[in-house]
Amino acid sequence: MITIDKVTSFLRQNKDNKFIQYRLNGSNIKIDDICTYDDFKKIKPITRKDLAELTKDIKVFADFFDLCPIKIFESPGPIYNLLFESYYQYRFYKGLEYSSFGHCDIVVNTFSYHLTPAGEMFDEAVRKIGASVIPLGPSSSSKCAEVIKNTGATAFIGTKTFLKKVLEELGEKNSLLKSYLIAEKITDDERNYLSNKYDIEIYQGYGTAEAGLIATECQYKTGMHVDNEIFVEILNPENGDLLGENEVGEAYVTILNKNYPLIRYATGDLVSYTLEKCSCDREDMRILGVFGRVDSSVKVKGVFIHEWSLTEFANSYGVSIKLEISNDENNNDILSLHINKDVKGLDLAFKEKFKLRVNNINVNNDINKTEIIENRTYLKKR
Ligand SMILES: [Zn+2]
Repeated sequence: MITIDKVTSFLRQNKDNKFIQYRLNGSNIKIDDICTYDDFKKIKPITRKDLAELTKDIKVFADFFDLCPIKIFESPGPIYNLLFESYYQYRFYKGLEYSSFGHCDIVVNTFSYHLTPAGEMFDEAVRKIGASVIPLGPSSSSKCAEVIKNTGATAFIGTKTFLKKVLEELGEKNSLLKSYLIAEKITDDERNYLSNKYDIEIYQGYGTAEAGLIATECQYKTGMHVDNEIFVEILNPENGDLLGENEVGEAYVTILNKNYPLIRYATGDLVSYTLEKCSCDREDMRILGVFGRVDSSVKVKGVFIHEWSLTEFANSYGVSIKLEISNDENNNDILSLHINKDVKGLDLAFKEKFKLRVNNINVNNDINKTEIIENRTYLKKR
């Protein structure tokens, strides 16, 4: 696990890097003044919005770095992502290595190769571990199944939703042995169901277009090990305080890559972590899940409910909650909680935490994610 000492010595070693200088100047802090975590925390975070602004002029942005970009991608924002070196900037090959992908695998990559970086991230990762990649990109599940049948592909890279559809097309007997998923959370129940029915190993990782791989599961699948080149801070979205184990907060990542030093990147993702020793003997930080986005919130009867706050509430009861806001014919707001199992006294607890009365509570076993659903018709008409 990366310590703050390693981060500060990285900054010192790379103090001439123009992007690091830009960040320090913007925070009014000098490199020699950064010795402790509290000093480091004075560096203003960089957000997706900041990156969108900074990369508006690619020439100016590229000038911060010593290498010429190999590729320029676009992710929503738009943010222009500059790729300076293969393999070591995005690092998803490590996720595949943790997931027992190997050089004999034939891997179907279903992420898009068009403009966004996901296709490339995994294409290079597969090549790095010496496996064969089928650059499928987005397609119909039937086309994907056809390609898997024709090639005898052994591994799948993509999202959970797409994997499910492809497995349904393929049927129980098929050549896929393993899969690596990002972008959507998979619950233990969903994973067990798919693994048992289709005899497939399912691993998940966490990363972003700007940062590449952040964390990835090992064979025990009890949280995602943070990559050993990344320093992660998990902060209270309201006051910026550093949070402890099992608390839900925003992930800030610092990547110690001298060619592309991304310092205190505020991901906007809500996560929690544990430092408990994993069965694989590693004692590093494990991300327990990505529970939503910091910026997802809803205003009901003048009160804000943030998704991170709802997630914390749901986690404290070990449940998933879908909070639906709708309205009656007089445009009065109606709050409905859809919850995956019955919890006694939840309405009172909700009222105490959010100062709002719940109108309905419905138990529905299919709820597998905590989220806020805005269904107020009078808002949609605007
Ligand atoms: Zn482990």
